[in-house]
Amino acid sequence: MNLYDLFQNFKISRAHGEARNAKTRAEGIAVDVRLLEKKVEKLSHLCQAMWEIMEEDGCSSARLKAKLAEVEKKSQTTSGKATVVCDECGQKVSARAISCFNCGAKLNG
Ligand SMILES: [Zn+2]
Repeated sequence: MNLYDLFQNFKISRAHGEARNAKTRAEGIAVDVRLLEKKVEKLSHLCQAMWEIMEEDGCSSARLKAKLAEVEKKSQTTSGKATVVCDECGQKVSARAISCFNCGAKLNG
């Protein structure tokens, strides 16, 4: 095997390693997405139940919609500001993120 072949084999081996790492990260992200989907579904059901109870107890739909708009407006002014630093790569990411968007590491807290 000549030097060129050795170099090509090294590059192929490195590419295989990078592909394995990317696959692992993608699988981790897919797990995060499934967990988030379950949380969203649970929260959706909770909101639906609360909304129906409020309406049954006499709260008007208009009042609920006005309160929803108020809560959403408050959320827009406070969300996205809290960040944490990834322990693995030092990237600043949203404190609400489950894993680092840069390196894929799980975030604490
Ligand atoms: Zn990171």
